[in-house]
Amino acid sequence: MQREMAQKTALIVYAHQSPVSFNAAARDVAVEALTKQGYKVLVSDLYAMSFKSSATADDIKGDLKNPEHFVYNEEMMAAWQDGRLSDDVSEEQHKLEQAELVIFQFPLYWFSVPAIMKGWIDRVLTQGFAFTLQKMYDNGIFKDKKAILSFTTGATESMFLADAVHGDINVLLWPLQNGVLRFCGFQVLAPQIFWCPAHSPASVRSQMLEAWRERLHGVFAEKPLSFAPTEYFDLSFQGGFRLRPEVREKCVSLTHGITTAHHLGKPLPPDNQTKAKES
Ligand SMILES: Cc1cc2nc3c(=O)[nH]c(=O)nc-3n(C[C@H](O)[C@H](O)[C@H](O)COP(=O)(O)OP(=O)(O)OC[C@H]3O[C@@H](n4cnc5c(N)ncnc54)[C@H](O)[C@@H]3O)c2cc1C
Repeated sequence: MQREMAQKTALIVYAHQSPVSFNAAARDVAVEALTKQGYKVLVSDLYAMSFKSSATADDIKGDLKNPEHFVYNEEMMAAWQDGRLSDDVSEEQHKLEQAELVIFQFPLYWFSVPAIMKGWIDRVLTQGFAFTLQKMYDNGIFKDKKAILSFTTGATESMFLADAVHGDINVLLWPLQNGVLRFCGFQVLAPQIFWCPAHSPASVRSQMLEAWRERLHGVFAEKPLSFAPTEYFDLSFQGGFRLRPEVREKCVSLTHGITTAHHLGKPLPPDNQTKAKES
């Protein structure tokens, strides 16, 4: 008897106010391309949902453990364990649980995500549900899921080079790709960057969307970006969570640092946060 294949799911966390924006077009391309491949596609349209961006005690139902000194992480972990999270947070966590692929679609705001998406990150990726101190990075809770940052910029590509006015885009990507996604265990795929659509000719904008569509057809076979293996570090307070001495020794002969941030005082590995390693 043939077993029915479970339908795979993708989640698009989307933050733009306008349905005729370039971001909306990029979202639509992703919905179409993934649906065509047989995926169930969930979209969290954060502005349309009026998604709350601030992490507060309203995210918890019932009594707080320590109302005198409110500690968000701890209260959220206890509430998650007891099923007392607010409905909007629970719903997003449920969507995330189902998804093999998560696409964050947004315009770059202040070198980062818009506040409403930062709110999603703060409120949905909570302790216990998305990470613990034992379950992080290579041992992270979402290690079987892939994630992509897909975003538009106001700046051109040349403005984000190592010798240009905004500096190296790899440095900008590090906090989101390592500090959020990889920390929670995600396999981080190369970011999809739509450079300066507002000042690009219509033909270039169409090409950018077509390239995105094309990429999505092979996205599940893509190799993730490379990060420092967690086993390189002594994950103890005694060891300061630092590189193990034997790894440090081996790194002496490297030409480049391990990653954009684990640079060890050496030149940064080129394109570490923008391209998967070839070998
Ligand atoms: C608070 C704030 C902070 C910011 N910080 C930064 C920053 O740090 N760095 C930086 O680089 N930028 C920054 N920006 C700029 C921002 O990133 C850009 O304005 C944004 O990325 C542009 O994307 P959009 O979707 O809003 O473009 P839109 O203006 O919506 O679209 C661009 C063009 O694409 C067209 N378009 C729409 N749909 C399609 C389609 N289907 N096919 C072809 N064309 C289409 C639109 O009509 C328009 O002409 C910031 C902006 C704000 C408001």
